[in-house]
Amino acid sequence: MARLIVGNWKMNLNPGEASLLVHQLEDKLDAKANTEVVICPPFIDIYPISKDLDSKKLKLGSQNIHYLDEGAFTGEISPAMLKGMASYSIIGHSERRAMGEDDKLIAKKVAAALRNDIVPVLCVGESLHDREHGLSRKVVVDQLTADLSQLTAGDVGQLVVAYEPVWAIGSGKFATPDEVTPVVASIRGTVEELYGEEGAGGLRVLYGGSVAPDNAKAYLRLDGVDGLLVGGASLNYEEFAQIVKVAQGL
Ligand code: PEP
Repeated sequence: MARLIVGNWKMNLNPGEASLLVHQLEDKLDAKANTEVVICPPFIDIYPISKDLDSKKLKLGSQNIHYLDEGAFTGEISPAMLKGMASYSIIGHSERRAMGEDDKLIAKKVAAALRNDIVPVLCVGESLHDREHGLSRKVVVDQLTADLSQLTAGDVGQLVVAYEPVWAIGSGKFATPDEVTPVVASIRGTVEELYGEEGAGGLRVLYGGSVAPDNAKAYLRLDGVDGLLVGGASLNYEEFAQIVKVAQGL
């Protein structure tokens, strides 16, 4: 299975700046079949980027979606509107959970993405408080169980789950590979328990949280880790390209 590197640009870059970053990245990257690279710009950048993207090198994802395909929801963007442009969507990022998104809503969004042929990159992860109380695995398993509640075994094979300890996001503090391994094993074990070995066979699991060129290899080498979700470093084309090259070189 190809590795997957996903860049989350968060609320940064207007369309002009986004186009520049895409061109800088495309210049730095070589397309390699062993690594899929996805960038998730703000919604306003997705359409113009989609018109002028080297799809052998980069794919597009969104940072969020609504759970319905259309309707009276001022300010929202539906997965049906993104269909054909975004191949992936980050769902349940901790920054959105912190704004009030709960597992019930996230479960509907995961289902909505799949209904529109968009691969959900479902983010799960524990807070610092949970970690200090030895609850990392429990929190992640509970989130996963609730967030996947609307899926069938057939859906689950298309899913990407990103393990992102909340305390490691944008903080410069990263989970050590030893801390990541048991949680990733719990993620895989939970999906297998819920949907059977066959259903879980296609599941891809990413690590995210202060990933940088100098720590990327340690995560990518871990058993059960298929790729990375990169925030801050994805806004720097040199750093992001270096992370992609690490994945391509393994
Ligand atoms: C993220 O936003 O998903 C993320 C992992 O951010 P950072 O790499 O900056 O910690």
